[in-house]
Amino acid sequence: MILAANWKMHMGPDETRRFAKRFSELVDPKPDRQIVFFPPAVSVEAAATAFAGRPDVRIGVQDVYWEPKGAFTGATSVALARAAGATVTLIGHSERRHVFGETVEDTHQKVVAACEGGLRPFLCVGETLAQREAGETEAVVSAQLHAALRGVRASLLVDLAVAYEPVWAIGTGRNATPDDAAHVHRVLRGLMAGLGIVESAPILYGGSVNPGNARQLLARPEIDGALVGGASLDPEVWAKVIAEADAAGGAGAPSGA
Ligand code: PEP
Repeated sequence: MILAANWKMHMGPDETRRFAKRFSELVDPKPDRQIVFFPPAVSVEAAATAFAGRPDVRIGVQDVYWEPKGAFTGATSVALARAAGATVTLIGHSERRHVFGETVEDTHQKVVAACEGGLRPFLCVGETLAQREAGETEAVVSAQLHAALRGVRASLLVDLAVAYEPVWAIGTGRNATPDDAAHVHRVLRGLMAGLGIVESAPILYGGSVNPGNARQLLARPEIDGALVGGASLDPEVWAKVIAEADAAGGAGAPSGA
């Protein structure tokens, strides 16, 4: 089971340290449950230091650029992310795609750079409301997955995690039903198998997960974890999401590296 917190553009270094202290009072490590924090880039080092005593916690960046170094103002390379303490990166989050215009070709280059440089990629896919209403959900997630992973050796993707995040559910308070999410997860699992990706690669659900719906979603064997935005910003609320996930039984795939 993986429970990943996407802090988006919240939480500076001081808030990160305060959060980590309170979080460690509230949540004990548990075998087979991995917690991942994606703070803003300026707080990655603070998070890595503050959670250094927690073997169950990984720190990630919210985005990464594929070039190794150079004149790319505002960008973070894989090596810079690792130097700050990150071991994971989000790729293709819907806000990167829809607010910043990230293309599927960009996600492909980022996956390759992350895998080659030793950052675990969490590839996000998901349809907009218009695409869902037009019956295009499966075609959209399939196109996003294939474009990001095409031509990448399966052996390079051993640490891949995928997050199904319907765009209409992110930050809206409207989550996919467990049945709808489980259906798309089965579709993704089939597509990943076709690409030779190991069956243990986790598939997370993201989109308005909170303490009230986490247990039902995570009780589905197709759902190996959650990627959570709003409900991960307060340690008390985040601890409740984790407690609900624990109560769901952790039926999903191993959390991997
Ligand atoms: C996200 O940022 O990936 C996300 C799922 O946000 P929220 O939980 O707020 O919908």
